[in-house]
Amino acid sequence: MTAVLLTERAGAPGKVNLFFAAGPPRSDGYHDVASLYCAVSTGETVTATLTRGAGTTVGVAAVPGSLVAQQLDRGTFSLDAVPTDGSNLAVRAAEAVLTRFPPLAGGLHLQLDKAVPVAGGMGGGSADAAAALVAVNRLAARVSREPELDDDALLELAAGLGADVPFALTGGAAVGTGTGSRLRPVAVGATLHLVLVAAEAGLSTPAVYAELDRLRADQDVPAPRLPGDLEAVLGAGAAGELAPLLANDLQAAALSLAPQLGPVLAAGAAAGALASFVSGSGPTVAHLVADAAAAEDLADVLRGQGAPALAVRAP
Ligand code: ATP
Repeated sequence: MTAVLLTERAGAPGKVNLFFAAGPPRSDGYHDVASLYCAVSTGETVTATLTRGAGTTVGVAAVPGSLVAQQLDRGTFSLDAVPTDGSNLAVRAAEAVLTRFPPLAGGLHLQLDKAVPVAGGMGGGSADAAAALVAVNRLAARVSREPELDDDALLELAAGLGADVPFALTGGAAVGTGTGSRLRPVAVGATLHLVLVAAEAGLSTPAVYAELDRLRADQDVPAPRLPGDLEAVLGAGAAGELAPLLANDLQAAALSLAPQLGPVLAAGAAAGALASFVSGSGPTVAHLVADAAAAEDLADVLRGQGAPALAVRAP
């Protein structure tokens, strides 16, 4: 008899926000946003394994060649920054799935293979959560011989875990409204080419929002909306026409907290990038370039200058 391998693996992409507008703080502390999410070709993998123990354990490793691996090589990052207890978003995702199945006869081990910088504004924890939802759903269904939760049920669990988790589950490109979790897929006419540059220290998303509110304290902040022509330009797929439309309300706040990002953004313009922007709450910077060769060239130059840099496709 062959032993059944009680392991399931799933991946989820990191993201950049090609456009991000945030409204004033709501009474519940959250902000309404208008976000154009775009998945990138670097992401997380979660392997869920049934164990003989009890409870959930977590292992963390860096994907070779990834931004995280480059940060480790440079000694600017330690995997200890990733929590391995119940506060890890992947553990919370696994627990959310398991409530929908009969109790497991055993424990669960989640192996997180990380490529997305931690606290980098690229939704790495959210991608771990999304991948864990998928992997644990498959595993729990196999073990219990129950049907898997369907996509709508997983999306509902995702929205309960964090604003960026539903997008990490769907990938592609999408407009996010509400806190970002209400998604509408959008068409991208051609693959975009980006160079991602990771920073030495992460930024806390709540701290960046607090700084944004402080910087705009005297302003009448409008409700967030996407520029009218953005979706049409994205659909047409010309990176050069898209470049002037890219904007991120959180960028000024991220720069205020991490002024060292200024030269990182300027390095893109100096090297001929079409646009350079902070991804989400930062501090990861993305340079939009014309094609794959330009992306590889720029990534080489930036790595040569000592920065963790990676050429990626989006979506
Ligand atoms: P976002 O852009 O979605 O707000 P981020 O990409 O900037 O988030 P994450 O890498 O998701 O940041 O992590 C933010 C914090 O969440 C980390 O500093 C860490 O303490 C905690 N965390 C919880 N689960 C994870 C996880 N699976 N991977 C990394 N960090 C996690």
